Amino acid sequence: MNFVSTRGAEKVSGARAIVQGLAKDGGLFVPEKFPAVSREELEEMLAMDYPERASFVLHKYLDEYDGDELTAALKKAYAQFEGDDPAPLVKVENGMYVLELFHGPTCAFKDMALTVLPYLLRKGCDLCGIKEEILILVATSGDTGKAALEGFKDASGIKIITFYPDEGVSKMQKLQMCTQEGENVNVIAVKGNFDDCQTAVKRIFASEEYAKELKEKGVLLSSANSINFGRLAPQIAYYFSAYLDLVSSEQIQMGDKVNFTVPTGNFGNILAAYYAKQMGLPVGTLVCASNKNNVLTDFFEKGVYDSKRPFFKTMSPSMDILVSSNLERLLFEISGRNAKVTAERMKALSEKGRYEMNAEEMKLIRASFFAGYTGEDDTVDCMYEFFTEYGYPMDTHTGVAMNVAQKFEKLKEDDHKEDGVPMVVVSTASPYKFPQDVLYALTGNDVKDSFKGIKRINLLTAMKVPESLKALRYKPMRFKTTVSPDKLYAEVLKFI
Ligand SMILES: *Cc1c(COP(=O)(O)O)cnc(C)c1O
Repeated sequence: MNFVSTRGAEKVSGARAIVQGLAKDGGLFVPEKFPAVSREELEEMLAMDYPERASFVLHKYLDEYDGDELTAALKKAYAQFEGDDPAPLVKVENGMYVLELFHGPTCAFKDMALTVLPYLLRKGCDLCGIKEEILILVATSGDTGKAALEGFKDASGIKIITFYPDEGVSKMQKLQMCTQEGENVNVIAVKGNFDDCQTAVKRIFASEEYAKELKEKGVLLSSANSINFGRLAPQIAYYFSAYLDLVSSEQIQMGDKVNFTVPTGNFGNILAAYYAKQMGLPVGTLVCASNKNNVLTDFFEKGVYDSKRPFFKTMSPSMDILVSSNLERLLFEISGRNAKVTAERMKALSEKGRYEMNAEEMKLIRASFFAGYTGEDDTVDCMYEFFTEYGYPMDTHTGVAMNVAQKFEKLKEDDHKEDGVPMVVVSTASPYKFPQDVLYALTGNDVKDSFKGIKRINLLTAMKVPESLKALRYKPMRFKTTVSPDKLYAEVLKFI
């Protein structure tokens, strides 16, 4: 299958789209058309295990990859997860389920894709005949950086630099990144917030001059951010798998609709759900959950994307984002795959910080999406209630999603529009990844030390502490550099 740019005429193979990351015109690569999954194929997938289901979905897009080799790579990637199932579905109450995506090496859902991306990229280089060394640049709001470092550590022919906002990540996230092992990795703090960090990294990707200089040094830039289709593809798979799990456990019948609520930042996770829907998965409404940084809620309500607004630091830092990059892929679909209109909107966003949709387009969007947001206090209340009522502890990002899911169900109730469609809330991080905030939500207690928080949550919930977080405590800090956003390229040159 070929991939096209959201902003122009560029057309490339799947392997090339993954290796290149971003189109030359600054657009994102999207599949030329959505591959369909038929009812018969869904039935067939019921008997498959998680890696086989994922391989089935991925191969629909990446058909130049060898199917058996892809399955083997996926089995190897998901063997690093704790437990038998990399994406278990937990029933919390009737009609309400949680899809746990945090059982990977770094305890966040980014592992679902970033344990697989090194294979997709390495193989992609082979398929494209690329001989240069690959340099991955990552801008992270916390979880991507660590998952990418862990995924790519000591990968042959690949180096990776992770840039994170010095004031924008949790203590645990910073510790996870700065203690990273591997000879091919580097971690740098950038002064400012995530958007400053992401903009600075995008500037490097967009520069032809830099690309030329790096090529002369035998280096090719690539991205592990969620704008890379290689990140998106493995995420589509877990929506299929969650649906199939509901069917096999007789919670629903094949063909019934299911709603999903997704805690959203860069719009990658929820976009994967939209892709699953476009492929034929019976998805009802996709609920886009935001924290106090509610730029997406406003967008879905008013049809105006306006990033010029105050930025809030919240307990769900991976969602503290004002420019959601993957939204561009949705705009492209909604505009009738109009690259010119999409390019104009993205230009307006970068120059004026805003763009508008028309009424027709908003109707289309609202047919698939509902958006809501929640503040810090409501998130804490929701986490507390779910723990006391169902004994289910969740992290702060999942807390936001759960609270917005409740608001969505309540609205349906108030409008007498209850339709019995089950809700799956996507859980994106382990409660142990944000131990201080989670402990506060569950008990009202503040602790200064993350590891003390972990111990107390463990005593309270009896939930198993992930091995990777336990081990962190004894690892030395390896990376301490902080730079301003205009100095990123200099760091790149130093590292290669
Ligand atoms: C990255 C992340 C999100 C946001 O996901 P997007 O794909 O960027 O929308 C939500 N929760 C956690 C824990 C994350 O790491």
